[in-house]
Amino acid sequence: MREIRKINISQPSLGKDEWEALKEPLTTGWVTQGPKVAEFEKRFAEIHNVRHAVAATSCTTALHLALAALGIRSSEEVIVPAFTWVATANVVEYVGAKPVFCDIERDTYNIDVSQMEKHITSRTRAVIPVHLFGLCADMDPLSEICRTRNIHIVEDAACAAGASYKNKKAGTLGDIGCFSFHPRKIITTGEGGMCTTNNSGLSDRLFCLRNHGASLSEEERHKGASPYVLPDFNVLGFNYRMTDLQGAIGLVQLRKLSSFIDQRRHRAQWYREQLKDIAWLKTPTVTAGYEHTYQSFVCYMDEHKAPLTRNEFMELMHSRGISTRPGTHAVHMLGYYADKYGLKPEDYPVSRDCYLYTVALPLHNRMTEEDYQYVVRKIKEVSK
Ligand SMILES: *Cc1c(COP(=O)(O)O)cnc(C)c1O
Repeated sequence: MREIRKINISQPSLGKDEWEALKEPLTTGWVTQGPKVAEFEKRFAEIHNVRHAVAATSCTTALHLALAALGIRSSEEVIVPAFTWVATANVVEYVGAKPVFCDIERDTYNIDVSQMEKHITSRTRAVIPVHLFGLCADMDPLSEICRTRNIHIVEDAACAAGASYKNKKAGTLGDIGCFSFHPRKIITTGEGGMCTTNNSGLSDRLFCLRNHGASLSEEERHKGASPYVLPDFNVLGFNYRMTDLQGAIGLVQLRKLSSFIDQRRHRAQWYREQLKDIAWLKTPTVTAGYEHTYQSFVCYMDEHKAPLTRNEFMELMHSRGISTRPGTHAVHMLGYYADKYGLKPEDYPVSRDCYLYTVALPLHNRMTEEDYQYVVRKIKEVSK
């Protein structure tokens, strides 16, 4: 009988510990942002060697908070890579500013810093380098360009919890870093996000903005001696508060972060060795000084050498029970951006190619040894 397995592209690793952790907030009744979120923030900051961490409801809202805290406004421009999840550009639209796309490097899938300068104008206020799939962008030259021109840096570290660049953690490489705890990322709280910063002024603004712009937090009010004191609202804020149910789960997930990443690195290396003779499938580049998290294991398919197209390959894998995905979008080709800014696919050719020819293979912390062997066996059958 032909063997068929069902292998998801990604699957969160949640269990008894997370289940147990929910008991306390459920029992005390403190389910909105409170002590668990505060503890989660503190631990997250410690692990990322950063002074402040501010939780939010997602990485998208964390990014929105970051741009708001930096005071980015309409008529201003923010540079974003063209190959990324759509949210990276959407948050620029949320504050009324204009996303200006920059093409990426084919090897790393990250912003091509050598092309960044041509996109800078007198209106450029910030850049959002994305640490795509868990590999940090080349932050040294990028920071140098920004420093001399007073351009803020917001790291989209959605996939990069625990990643590092030249011994510095993701989330400490710009003014503000933003992380995601969506189930497709390394650790999860269902939905969830986090801002990190070493700047206490920015941290205060992030705290205030995520809680309606209130001058006092709920906890401060709860503990306060004067029941008549209501917070003042001097800025326009949002309700981007994480719940304590999520904070409790996040604390447990955070304890597992480094072992999750170790397992992923081990599996990525194994894939790389197993697939090295398949000339049409380029596995992710390893660069010295970068600690990749392998949130996704994204390969580039050379259709000239391959016996089938990328989409045929994906369909074939699907028929064998193996889920694969294109790496991510070329955001400039999505209807909203193409229409609004009159963008053509060839404006950012590397991003377009990566959208068309990349494929993420399943790699996550719930896959078994047999699952990995099955995936490799099925890929090798294709190339015979
Ligand atoms: C997942 C992701 C986001 C969005 O994160 P959410 O927590 O789902 O809002 C943003 N940017 C990148 C690069 C992502 O991969």
